[in-house]
Amino acid sequence: MRVVSSINRVRQILKSARSNGTIAFVPTMGALHEGHLSLMKKAKAECDFLVVSLFVNPLQFGPTEDFKVYPRELASDRKKAHSAGADLLWIPSEKDLYPPGFQSTVTVSKISQPWEGIFRPDHFKGVSTIVAKLLQITRPDRLYLGQKDYQQSCVIRQMIRDLHFETQMRVCATCREKDGLAMSSRNARLSTKARENAAILYRALQAAKNQVRSGERDAKCIIQTVTSLLESIPGLKYDYVALCDIETLEPLERLADCAVLLAAIHIGRVRLIDNIRLKIPKK
Ligand code: AMP
Repeated sequence: MRVVSSINRVRQILKSARSNGTIAFVPTMGALHEGHLSLMKKAKAECDFLVVSLFVNPLQFGPTEDFKVYPRELASDRKKAHSAGADLLWIPSEKDLYPPGFQSTVTVSKISQPWEGIFRPDHFKGVSTIVAKLLQITRPDRLYLGQKDYQQSCVIRQMIRDLHFETQMRVCATCREKDGLAMSSRNARLSTKARENAAILYRALQAAKNQVRSGERDAKCIIQTVTSLLESIPGLKYDYVALCDIETLEPLERLADCAVLLAAIHIGRVRLIDNIRLKIPKK
């Protein structure tokens, strides 16, 4: 595995890799966990050459968010990326990606607005801008993203379509801890008690899924099930719990065929998101 920082070097390496086969790309912010590694393994299984980027993107953090304390674990990330099959680990510098005088950003208008967009204004502008830059430089055949960041995958899908990127996007299942908590680099910042309590998020989403299995179709009732479980944990606050169309992310009043249930919570000083797809069982 080669480890490089320079944009030109990445372009050179990928030019020769491209002439020998297909290129897979997994963008990350590091502090790699099994979720990231599952994307890499899938990517490597499906393509000839795997490039992984590691960059904590300042543009996607709000002024009061956790950019400064976001975990950075370069040495162990190198080992993990290597063991997951990365051929190239790209660790760009902030000054190369956002040089002085940088002015251009990418905004994906409608789908960026609800849910995360309300609570993290400009977050998706930061995400779509960095992903556009990384795609522009790596020009991969396939981009691998996690379902864990469901709205992010919708935003990027729309951007790829709108801006004619020649990259196919694959969304991979969420990897979870034994108690169901979605793996996240931010979990490391949870206290022991908060870590224990954080399992309620997935349990609440599962409770909604069971309710749908038993015949409930009304969005308000399904959401109520989730919020009342979340509220049972002292000190837990939620930003939103939403039952949405799987593509447009518009809120649904009733579950007709399939939907996605999205939620964001604050526990301790950590903000966590998760989601599950809901499908009406066939008779
Ligand atoms: P991040 O480093 O948080 O920016 O995540 C990089 C990529 O890994 C994104 O596409 C995420 O959706 C994906 N990812 C994060 N957590 C998980 C997880 N638990 N399971 C699968 N993919 C994940």
